[in-house]
Amino acid sequence: MERELETLFEAQKIESMIMEGEQKLLQAPKKLKQMEDRLAEVRGKIEKEQEIVEELEKERRKKEKELEGEKEKIKKLEVKLYDVKTNKEYQALLKEIESAKEANDRTEEDVLVLMDKVEDLKKDYEASQTELEKLEKESEIEKKAMEKETRSMDEVIAKLTTERDNLLSIVSDNLRNTYNILRERRGGIAVTNVRNGVCLGCNMNIPPQLFIEVTKNKQLIQCPSCNRILFFREND
Ligand SMILES: [Zn+2]
Repeated sequence: MERELETLFEAQKIESMIMEGEQKLLQAPKKLKQMEDRLAEVRGKIEKEQEIVEELEKERRKKEKELEGEKEKIKKLEVKLYDVKTNKEYQALLKEIESAKEANDRTEEDVLVLMDKVEDLKKDYEASQTELEKLEKESEIEKKAMEKETRSMDEVIAKLTTERDNLLSIVSDNLRNTYNILRERRGGIAVTNVRNGVCLGCNMNIPPQLFIEVTKNKQLIQCPSCNRILFFREND
């Protein structure tokens, strides 16, 4: 019996390694998703920056066009100055030209402000673009590394599974069945060590008399609390 229990204990160790490997395999898609999310975020930022730049450029062009029209108008008004008959008309026209010019100065100021803004935004945009390229390269490298890791992990798990199955094949059907059922029901841990009278599967105390029996490894003993198969090995 001791041999069989020990075999189960070893099978359990391999089982835990398999679970660890599977856990790692599950991490890969999560990491991948995180990378994709980050890329999408930066791409979205760039798109927005581009939109704002386009919007401002459009506004600048509109104002420049307005300005052109206004300048034409002023020229015409200035020509009209020669044709006015009265001083009153002349003064009125001058005033009109003056205020038109003032309005144009303000528009020109607006255009300059817009150009500055666009300049700054373009810098942000270029920085984001550089960030994106860097991120894309890094993601590509990481993705390849992850794929490689996944492949080798698959191989490791396959090898471990064979080892586990080999071990399980040499214990009695009854013991193997118990092991498999417990593995299913107890989160993959069917066999557990005991230390200082405590089941390491559920951390509950085992009655002292039972604990003494467990340390002998002579018979199949299951934890009264979690039902796991108990096996005693010191310093493990
Ligand atoms: Zn237990």
